[in-house]
Amino acid sequence: MMHPKEEKTVIIIKPDGVKRGLVGEIVSRIEKRGLKIIALEMFQPSKKQIDDHYPKDEKWIKRLGSKTLKNYEEYGIDSKDKKEFGTADPTEIGKAVRSWLLDYMTSGPMVKMVVSGIHAVNMVRKIVGSTMPGQAEMGTIRGDFSVDDATAANRDKRSIHNIIHASESPEEAEHEINFWFAPEEIHDYKRAEEDIMF
Ligand code: ADP
Ligand code: MG
Repeated sequence: MMHPKEEKTVIIIKPDGVKRGLVGEIVSRIEKRGLKIIALEMFQPSKKQIDDHYPKDEKWIKRLGSKTLKNYEEYGIDSKDKKEFGTADPTEIGKAVRSWLLDYMTSGPMVKMVVSGIHAVNMVRKIVGSTMPGQAEMGTIRGDFSVDDATAANRDKRSIHNIIHASESPEEAEHEINFWFAPEEIHDYKRAEEDIMF
């Protein structure tokens, strides 16, 4: 079994994060926590690549729609209203959200990283914060630097702008590492503080 220190995850700084000059801040937060950057590159993806990066199954698409419905409910908005979606079907809403996501993730260059460390997947998700920046805790990247949510984004027919992507599970991380990185782009080295921190 792999040592917990060797767990890997993928972070992508989205176009809004790059354009707002937050690359250094994000890299710094990851490094200071004791997570190690083992691959890093700026790139401009195609729509096809983003389409293959995110899951395509009905369950995942329905989940996107459910995030909208939950957020609408919290703010008393009726998704069946004509100026919103005109439906309360999470799959139908999820399909629209997914297509806006492809536009957003190809709207400018992004920075992709592989990060390793103790429970890297969960650790990075904690540092990143909730999908909806408007509800993300202070101290998280999304909570400190963004304010968007589904009620605003969906009204404007666009994806939520939330600065950063991070794999949600070790399985998602494995798919994303294989998809975005060649083996020779992932590096192995020892950080100076490793003997002291863990
Ligand atoms: P996360 O990025 O936190 O893992 P998801 O995997 O659920 O979140 O969704 C992928 C991305 O799609 C989000 O980061 C966000 O940019 C966008 N998104 C998710 N849900 C919605 C929604 N209901 N409306 C608009 N955009 C959304
Ligand atoms: Mg996700």
